[in-house]
Amino acid sequence: MDYLGEVVALGIDSVIFGICLKQYFHCRNAIAAVKGAEFHEVGSQLGDLVDKSSDNKIGYIAIRGIVKPLGKPLTSISNKKLTGVVQKLKIKEHVVARTTAGFWSDQERTVNKVFNTVPFALQQGGHFVEILEPLAADILDMDVVSNTFKPTVPSFSDHLWSFVTGVRQRGLQSTEELLREGAIMTGVGELTKTKSNTLTLQPPLNGTPFYLTSMSISSLLRKLDDRKRTYRLLCLMFGAIGMLIGGIVFRRYWKDRTEQRVAEELRQSLAASRKERRQRVRDTDLRGDQICVICCTNPREIILLPCGHVCLCEDCSEDITTHCPMCRAPIAQKAAAYII
Ligand SMILES: [Zn+2]
Ligand SMILES: [Zn+2]
Repeated sequence: MDYLGEVVALGIDSVIFGICLKQYFHCRNAIAAVKGAEFHEVGSQLGDLVDKSSDNKIGYIAIRGIVKPLGKPLTSISNKKLTGVVQKLKIKEHVVARTTAGFWSDQERTVNKVFNTVPFALQQGGHFVEILEPLAADILDMDVVSNTFKPTVPSFSDHLWSFVTGVRQRGLQSTEELLREGAIMTGVGELTKTKSNTLTLQPPLNGTPFYLTSMSISSLLRKLDDRKRTYRLLCLMFGAIGMLIGGIVFRRYWKDRTEQRVAEELRQSLAASRKERRQRVRDTDLRGDQICVICCTNPREIILLPCGHVCLCEDCSEDITTHCPMCRAPIAQKAAAYII
């Protein structure tokens, strides 16, 4: 296919454009939803609000309180004094890898990522709101409690091996993040009351994003607005690239079509002038074995291959395309015959 490269590029561009557009609308809807959500400190008024609502839930609300585990908290691996409710452990491998272009470049690979959680609530003044599915949050702010890098000391055989494979390990980076007990957090999501009269905050069923953040609502909105702007910029960029590729494809297609049309016109005019010239110089005083077997007027001008019969004039040969009229052999090719 002539335009394979362009079509593939256009396809990749469209996919990226689509993802960016989706993210842009996601951010835009999230900003509208967060702006529309009421803000409350955790307190007795939340229970009343839910009771007053029509279907025993508040679709989207922002509440602030202090993180409190509902059982035994998690203890940090790196610092036994720190306790929390959500823990994220990540091990990243830093490598120097040879790229396809032959250069060596620094790369990072996540080797392992583990989340641990315990049930917890946001509390204030003896009032609790249990947080469900914290890992489903779009933004989950946690503290980095440790970040260590252990360099690898390569041996001679490691050097040799890396030369063969093109990958050399530089070291391992381990990070631990913790949502700490006692942190002041704002949760944005759906507030409901369970049968046992406990208030819970969870990801909304309608797909509006769920947030657990240490930021204020205005900072959260600013962050979302920054994201929205970034995606808008990316949309514009990839949209422009798509239009450019589309333009190039269209221009090439148009140029090819014009060239084909001109070539076809030229071929037709050449064929017409040749035919006209032949007609002008045709011999009228012919023997029977020199006359076309179809029209019995014009001289024989065309040789049929592979049978080799010269039995047709050029005019009649245009209509006879499949079999030789003399021997019924299939016609593979026709050519002008010149008998001198
Ligand atoms: Zn003829
Ligand atoms: Zn024949």
